[in-house]
Amino acid sequence: MKNKLIVIIIILLLLYMIPTLSLSYFENTFSSSEEGPIDIAESIDSIITTDESEIRYIEVYHINSNKVLKLEIEEYIMGVVAAEMPAQFELDALKAQAITARTYLLYKLKKTNTNPEQHTQAPICSGTHCQVYLTKEELIQKFTQTWYDTYWPKIESAVNSTKGQILTYEGKLIEPLFHSTSGGRTENSEDVFTSAAPYLRSVESPYEANSPKLTATITIPIIEFITKLKGSLGENDINATNLKDKISLIEVSEGGKIKTMQIGETIITGRDFRTLYNLNSSNFKLVQNNENIEIITTGYGHGVGMSQYGANGMAIEGFNYRDILKHYYTGIEIMQYN
Ligand SMILES: [Zn+2]
Repeated sequence: MKNKLIVIIIILLLLYMIPTLSLSYFENTFSSSEEGPIDIAESIDSIITTDESEIRYIEVYHINSNKVLKLEIEEYIMGVVAAEMPAQFELDALKAQAITARTYLLYKLKKTNTNPEQHTQAPICSGTHCQVYLTKEELIQKFTQTWYDTYWPKIESAVNSTKGQILTYEGKLIEPLFHSTSGGRTENSEDVFTSAAPYLRSVESPYEANSPKLTATITIPIIEFITKLKGSLGENDINATNLKDKISLIEVSEGGKIKTMQIGETIITGRDFRTLYNLNSSNFKLVQNNENIEIITTGYGHGVGMSQYGANGMAIEGFNYRDILKHYYTGIEIMQYN
């Protein structure tokens, strides 16, 4: 009788836990930016393996080969810097990227350790889901052997000279979001994602003139533009004549991106509009010509955290990687992680 009771209690507990577990999995899968900073806990060490010579390894799920690679941490960071930032950039911009890559790795390891369902193969993957990592062979294939011979020593230097350095806010690891080009001002995290991180504040990004993505224009035939609106929003009353009156702006973010707009009866976010027309950013304006709609975008990417072209521009102006990181991540510290 007593045993039966225990079994029933266990079953009830399991039933209670199942929805809880699946809910937390869901939240963490879709809201990587919604969590606050996390502790640099010893738990990270349990997923970083160390050999006799004190070299630290991590496991990376390599998407292209569908294999788990065991990589030395700093070697992994090099493959991320090479994949995520043009190697032609200034050394201090590459150093800043190296520190964001290292910080993200630890952030992710810690997070995955508390939510092991997130990544089944390994705590971190080689794709955009985490941060892009390319192997030596992939880099040569993508950029050529000459590129590798020219720039790999520079990437090694950026990573080795900042070895172990990470970003913290009030003693906790930050989620170091970055993007290509802000278009003049970065975004508050809550204007793009859902939660406000104190270190992801809107700041000026004045040195982006060299970015090829600072502005871009795409031209779409009006009929095609309207067909898309009808198909995705069900706004069937829109036509070429009333189009201008049917679209209006509701709210713009501090960084200049469109937060919400009204199209016919529908309120749509700038992000969703960006996705709909595959735009560089949600900082855009629409110009209607005779037959076409021009969509003119400013910046490239979500606009939160460090602007990579802005970082390179700062480095050209003589700012070092510390200046760059402290500019784009408000109130952070650059710490040594051993
Ligand atoms: Zn991943």
